Amino acid sequence: MSSLFPALVGGPGERVALRFGERSLTYGDLAGAAGALTGRLRGAGRVAVWATPELETAVAVTGVLLAGAAAVPLNPKSGEKELAHIVSDSAPTLVLAAPGARLPDALGALERLDVDADARGAVPEESASDTDPALIVYTSGTTGPPKGAVLPRRALATTLDALADAWQWTAQDVLVHGLPLFHVHGLVLGTLGPLRRGGSVRHLGRFSTEGVARELNAGATMLFGVPTMYHRIAEALPADPELAEALGRARLLVSGSAALPVHDHERIAAATGRRVIERYGMTETLMNTSVRADGEARAGTVGVPLPGVELRLVEDDGTPITAQDGESVGEIQVRGANLFTEYLNRPDATAAAFTADGWFRTGDMAVRESDGYVRIVGRKATDLIKSGGYKIGAGEIENALLEHPAVREAAVTGEPDADLGERIVAWIVPADAKAPPAVEELADHVARRLAPHKRPRVVRYLDALPRNDMGKIMKRALADV
Ligand code: ATP
Ligand code: MG
Repeated sequence: MSSLFPALVGGPGERVALRFGERSLTYGDLAGAAGALTGRLRGAGRVAVWATPELETAVAVTGVLLAGAAAVPLNPKSGEKELAHIVSDSAPTLVLAAPGARLPDALGALERLDVDADARGAVPEESASDTDPALIVYTSGTTGPPKGAVLPRRALATTLDALADAWQWTAQDVLVHGLPLFHVHGLVLGTLGPLRRGGSVRHLGRFSTEGVARELNAGATMLFGVPTMYHRIAEALPADPELAEALGRARLLVSGSAALPVHDHERIAAATGRRVIERYGMTETLMNTSVRADGEARAGTVGVPLPGVELRLVEDDGTPITAQDGESVGEIQVRGANLFTEYLNRPDATAAAFTADGWFRTGDMAVRESDGYVRIVGRKATDLIKSGGYKIGAGEIENALLEHPAVREAAVTGEPDADLGERIVAWIVPADAKAPPAVEELADHVARRLAPHKRPRVVRYLDALPRNDMGKIMKRALADV
């Protein structure tokens, strides 16, 4: 296939490709450093990458892809047990790490190769085929133990080019990046995306609103974030006019990996004049839909299918839903060259994930609005509550609760109820722990905004919601709190 990184060879050699803190690499430097690695990686099969938020991780993954091998990014915050599972499941031949990184015992048996960002070597011809695996990325483990999604090279190229089309993403774009590098969002979109375009990445190491403002003021054009980052931005804006001004300057503010609460979307829009656009993807499918750069960014919607992505909503019995009425809820199923090929070592799970005619069952439920925009209602497994004969999405109740001034964070679940089938439970982090809002108050608030049958019957108060490393709410952990 053609190169994944056309800008690395014969591209703008002196342009800055990557900057992490004080350290940066031009395209010429990156080609040299990644090229130097490839000699050690030819025929290596699967290569684990200790994915710290450092320059070396980006060099390592680029080198692995140039060598035609497959990278297995490891989350440095994972526990020993999870790492041991991933290593035995993916059976890498070696692990790439930044010099000085301390690797845990679970990786002890792997040959270690330190990445030298200052090394210079030649970039080999990319000989891998477009169906060869490029990445094996473990899912976030939000709903169960992480599964290794095998992503072919074609999926990366397809999704990044579709996003370039939707976002008018070019070599002139400079991305502010504060996401981890072991997940599709920060690695594929945030790192490989700019490198494929010939643009630049400025990684903050650790996300901070100050870092975002600094980089946008210094000329960055795009910000990619997860909803917890936009929440921090929304909270900081009232006291930080400089941040508001910097965000107002950005060409594109993009959110994904979980639903962006409407309340945060609206607060950011009011303070900056910019609307965050949402895109919807999964480890298994890379990106499926997005609000387009020239489209309308409506709060709570994830836009339209990306070029090359076929998307349908289906009822429980598999009947496709054709109505675009904003009300008929169905499971999102997708087809396209952006998809993974299989869950590693899980033929059962792979088979269960696809319909007979090749549609991938995302497990996410949505409606379509009259103009085709997709509005995600939630996950089939955890976000759809069957109460009093209604099917109720947790997301809209969470959005309504977050608009209450006494609520800082909210998650909604269903639990068995003799009368209703399931009753709606609201898990609340109060804005002031000493004055938590009462159940009647929140029930009235929701009933007024949505409908009486959507009001929570039970409220439970927490100091914080259980979240994973991507900031996603782990609803399966709520029952154990
Ligand atoms: P696991 O599959 O291990 O339980 P996970 O599904 O959280 O974990 P990911 O592949 O990281 O793992 O996340 C994909 C999911 O994230 C989607 O299926 C969807 O539920 C959610 N998601 C992603 N983007 C959005 C978005 N913009 N709005 C709402 N939900 C989103
Ligand atoms: Mg999933």
